[in-house]
Amino acid sequence: MFAWPYGSQQSPINIEHHQTIPVAFPSDYLVFKYRDLELAGEFHTDDHNFHFNDVAILGYNGSDARLQRVHIHARSEHRIDNIDHDFEIHFVHPLPDIHCANHVTGDSNHIVLAAFFKIAETATTPKSIKAMNLTLQKYSKDRGPKPEKVDTKIPEKLNPYEFLPKDRTKFYRYEGSLTTSDSCGFYKERVTWIVFPEVIEVAPGDVDELQKHAQEKARPLQAINRRVILRNVTR
Ligand SMILES: [Zn+2]
Repeated sequence: MFAWPYGSQQSPINIEHHQTIPVAFPSDYLVFKYRDLELAGEFHTDDHNFHFNDVAILGYNGSDARLQRVHIHARSEHRIDNIDHDFEIHFVHPLPDIHCANHVTGDSNHIVLAAFFKIAETATTPKSIKAMNLTLQKYSKDRGPKPEKVDTKIPEKLNPYEFLPKDRTKFYRYEGSLTTSDSCGFYKERVTWIVFPEVIEVAPGDVDELQKHAQEKARPLQAINRRVILRNVTR
């Protein structure tokens, strides 16, 4: 739980509900403008992310941020009241850097959405999650026993909404960092995190490859330090 040498706003964290502050976010704080369609993209086998080629926009606090990539961590990185889950998906959106203004103001340069998944025998898995799992199955067959370190781009179409909870109006929000390090070993800060408490259920056979190839391992929990976590979640 030491922040050094990375900074004091690191991720992931354990969110203690009773220590979060209830707020009424403005109506344009988080606006989903993804089209409710299967959007084209590629699964990159070098970074284990699905990269969207079609434009999917998230309205955040008056700015439009483009959904860039999606990946999972098995098990989940964030916890709510010390509870973790089978896996966690991250939707990464770089924010537009208008005239470098957010370097001066210290505003976020990424917004990342986090959703939790639980494996349940009786669950009905959303279609796009199954599709992603099948893509990975094909990848692991094609790759053979001696994987080569080459970037293979597997074309696929996915509906981003199928990876998110139905109720996207309830979330926790805090300032943190990316949870994978850059080439210098640092975990870049100035990331706005939106963590949804609603857990999505998926059937075991539909996510086995996803779990196997979730190479972005869960980073250990980091200290909260002097941060305030906001919520519009009621219990
Ligand atoms: Zn991640």
